[in-house]
Amino acid sequence: MEQSELLVRRIKEGTVIDHIDEGKGLQVLNTLRIDGKDGSLITIALNVPSGKFKKKDIIKVENKFLKDDDTNKLAVIVPKATINIIKNYKLVEKRRVALPNEIDRIFRCSNPECITNSTEHIESVMDVIDKDGQVLKCRYCARVLDVNQLKYN
Ligand SMILES: [Zn+2]
Repeated sequence: MEQSELLVRRIKEGTVIDHIDEGKGLQVLNTLRIDGKDGSLITIALNVPSGKFKKKDIIKVENKFLKDDDTNKLAVIVPKATINIIKNYKLVEKRRVALPNEIDRIFRCSNPECITNSTEHIESVMDVIDKDGQVLKCRYCARVLDVNQLKYN
């Protein structure tokens, strides 16, 4: 067993998001809109040693099985993350995150004139037009956007 696995206790049922880039754990929770207000037990481990010189974040959400629709939103933030579904202490499914066809809410459009940046409360919607290059296009103002230059909402 990896050393990092020992730092956070095993869960019986739920989802483990592993290999989150260090420092991105809280952002992942935010993106998934997981805040624990529904009473579910959530374990967050930040800066867990991973390999010789690296660190990672890990999130465990008990009694919740996250679906592709949820976890694929993470592809632009933590492309190396793995999603592990645990049932009765056993790993029943392991998958990578994959960039979806559209990304809602996560990023702010870089066009100051865009309606999503106005005082009206319109959530951003962006189409992924190039998955490899991580290029998005705002559905409202049609501006082409580079993921790496976008600010988070
Ligand atoms: Zn826009």
